Amino acid sequence: MLNERMYHYGAERSVIREIFAYACERKAALGAERVFDFSLGNPHVPAPPAVRASIERSLATLSPAALHGYSPAGGLPEVRAAVAASLNKRYHMAYQPDDVFMTVGAAASLSCALNAVVTPAEEVIVVAPFFPEYRVWIEQAGVRMVVVPAQAEDFTLNLDALASAISPRTAAVIINSPNNPTGVVYTREQLSQLADILRAANNQRQEPIYFISDEPYRDLVSPGVEVPWLPELYEHTMVCYSYSKVLSLAGERVGWVLVPGTMPRSAEIQAAVAGAARALGFVCAPVLFQRVVMDCVDEAADMTAYERNRATLAEALRSHGYHFVEPEGAFYLWVQALESDATAFCNRARNFELLPVPSDSFGISGWVRISYCVSLDCIQASLPAWKALAESYRS
Ligand code: PLP
Repeated sequence: MLNERMYHYGAERSVIREIFAYACERKAALGAERVFDFSLGNPHVPAPPAVRASIERSLATLSPAALHGYSPAGGLPEVRAAVAASLNKRYHMAYQPDDVFMTVGAAASLSCALNAVVTPAEEVIVVAPFFPEYRVWIEQAGVRMVVVPAQAEDFTLNLDALASAISPRTAAVIINSPNNPTGVVYTREQLSQLADILRAANNQRQEPIYFISDEPYRDLVSPGVEVPWLPELYEHTMVCYSYSKVLSLAGERVGWVLVPGTMPRSAEIQAAVAGAARALGFVCAPVLFQRVVMDCVDEAADMTAYERNRATLAEALRSHGYHFVEPEGAFYLWVQALESDATAFCNRARNFELLPVPSDSFGISGWVRISYCVSLDCIQASLPAWKALAESYRS
């Protein structure tokens, strides 16, 4: 018998992937340089040279079994040790290799973290706008997604609304900062206040509410912007990280979940993460790229390219009368559509070969996401089209 839910997840592709597929068709028809695909968060900046060096070293020195064979389910011990050591250095912690479980990107990290701590009939709180795949991962974990809108004016956390959304069924809150799609980075003050709200709620219940911190953009921030280390602020925090964006390795599928050994019941939660990875088929992240992580744990792709892209796009859009959130991190511009229906706006944008993503699947209406991790040439070539699109609303 067909599993209807799986059928729908597969048959109804995400809006982002739909637009990406449309972009590929248009590029084939018109030529790549005439189509402005701002859909996927697929980094254009090359991986740092250390990535190639690591791969070449592995190819030159390792036995076939070490090169392409299975690793332990949670990753090679030396890789987990390298990640733990890097976190200890950066955040002054004392994590052990066992606190880190290597996964197949943040998608798998999130799924493992969720499945480790939720049980049927519970709820997971997300802040809107949110990464659309959260809905799939949360539903697949068998629980209900509770959507709490961010502050309307600046998309920071709405603490009163979050406090009101907490119920005896709340199992976890997903925090994504720097945020996809808004580029907002939550401040230490806001996150500490949210931690206090959760602690107060925990006093009324047996099981704690978990923070699941989704951090693929942690290292993509404007100079001087702090991304607070959440486990420091709240003891029941799991961190989900990925090398998709920081090392430009989105297609290689590698990341990790951290369950700090300092977390109450950490050994059981770590075992549950391992169990979730086993149940979901996410064990043994790609071994070649585990070694890349070990060798490049403190490396990053050239983030100045994103700064340049953002400055170029933001300046032009501002001059054409668009209203957008000034991003502090990630590589997305969150722009108010020029009509209330974001999908209608995106359809009109297609006439100019501009392909942003409407906000509806992110959980709010009236906005679009422009993914600016494309080439500067693409951004510059798109500017007359953004101008013409704005003018089409004035005429
Ligand atoms: N979470 C957020 C907020 C994302 O933007 C993405 C990818 O774009 C993911 C998770 C999934 O990341 P990965 O490619 O590492 O699976």
